[in-house]
Amino acid sequence: MFPVEKFRSLPTPFYFYDVALFRRTAQAALSEAQKYGYIIHYALKANAGEKLLRLLSGMGFGADCVSGAEVQRALSCGFSPESIAFAGVGKRDDEINLGIDHRIFSFNCESEQELEVINELAKAKGAVAHVALRINPNVDAHTHAHITTGLDENKFGINLWQLLDVAKKVKQMSNLKLVCIHFHIGSQITEFSPFTELCAKVNELQGQLEQAGVTVEHVNVGGGLGVDYEHPAEHSVPEFAAYFATLNRHIKLRPGQQLHCELGRSIVAQCGSLITQCLYVKELQKKNFVVVDAGMTDLIRPALYGAYHKIENITPQRAAEKVYDVVGPICESSDTFDKDVTLPQTQRGDLMAIRTAGAYGEVMASRYNLRQLPKAFFSDEV
Ligand SMILES: *Cc1c(COP(=O)(O)O)cnc(C)c1O
Repeated sequence: MFPVEKFRSLPTPFYFYDVALFRRTAQAALSEAQKYGYIIHYALKANAGEKLLRLLSGMGFGADCVSGAEVQRALSCGFSPESIAFAGVGKRDDEINLGIDHRIFSFNCESEQELEVINELAKAKGAVAHVALRINPNVDAHTHAHITTGLDENKFGINLWQLLDVAKKVKQMSNLKLVCIHFHIGSQITEFSPFTELCAKVNELQGQLEQAGVTVEHVNVGGGLGVDYEHPAEHSVPEFAAYFATLNRHIKLRPGQQLHCELGRSIVAQCGSLITQCLYVKELQKKNFVVVDAGMTDLIRPALYGAYHKIENITPQRAAEKVYDVVGPICESSDTFDKDVTLPQTQRGDLMAIRTAGAYGEVMASRYNLRQLPKAFFSDEV
């Protein structure tokens, strides 16, 4: 599936995006959401590449941003301001002003103080800012601790015990309009039970808010749908049908209410691979190492979360296999992509693909060790 011969002329390491798969995936998500009239705001933080963003905005996706720079990027790549949700626990004043000036769909607010600040900034401009309350529903996403966001112990969102109080206060703030309640319980969620539990919580909270005289036009259940890191070829497109059917079965929307979600990883993960080259093979008594030219600066997920990515040697295969630790060149022991990987016997110069790297890969790259940032190439351009 990889154009290995063409890769020979490209400078490794680099990200390679399968554009046909990307389109297929985005289209699948969109059609499944449209069955129920749901709206998807693509979460830019998973991958903010301009080419991919332009494709998504052209297809009719909305955007979910977590910084002013992401809001700018979404606007410059064709997303309409009224499709932009802006989340994050620490929005700066200049970032808020940018959103107010463009009249974005919603500021997803995470504290009472943030609401007060947005109200003041909107007042100074004579504007009314549309806000959502990001509610921390205390639902366990059963995923990695570093990417769980919906528990009381997490820094995110407004806790349940404050909710009614905060909702009533927002109604008093003259330059805010409460349009939405927002949730996001975590990422790489591979069972549907956390989503079912979230829906039940949303239903319960809607009831409580209504009793307190608070109604909203929109409900946003965030992102989090996981992908299959073990079997990228077999499960190249995530289970969007089951995901949206689960939401539809369990959420009770009020008449006229619109459901939104913010998928990131599931839209973009499988279409991206990090392509790297074997620099050295170290065969020691107890271990064999393949030292590649990509490092944690190009893809930090294994070092940061202990995340698994399938590694393939994509050079025309040799029959004999060997077990290797695949490591990068960075001066950190955590710069290891995987241990005890069975690969065809590998040699200096072999090309390798680290799969399912389209989400939270290129966007997290750093210049540690003064390395160059990895470039991106696309299947329809190489
Ligand atoms: C990160 C994030 C998302 C996207 O999560 P995925 O797991 O990539 O789908 C959506 N909403 C918010 C608020 C986020 O922080």
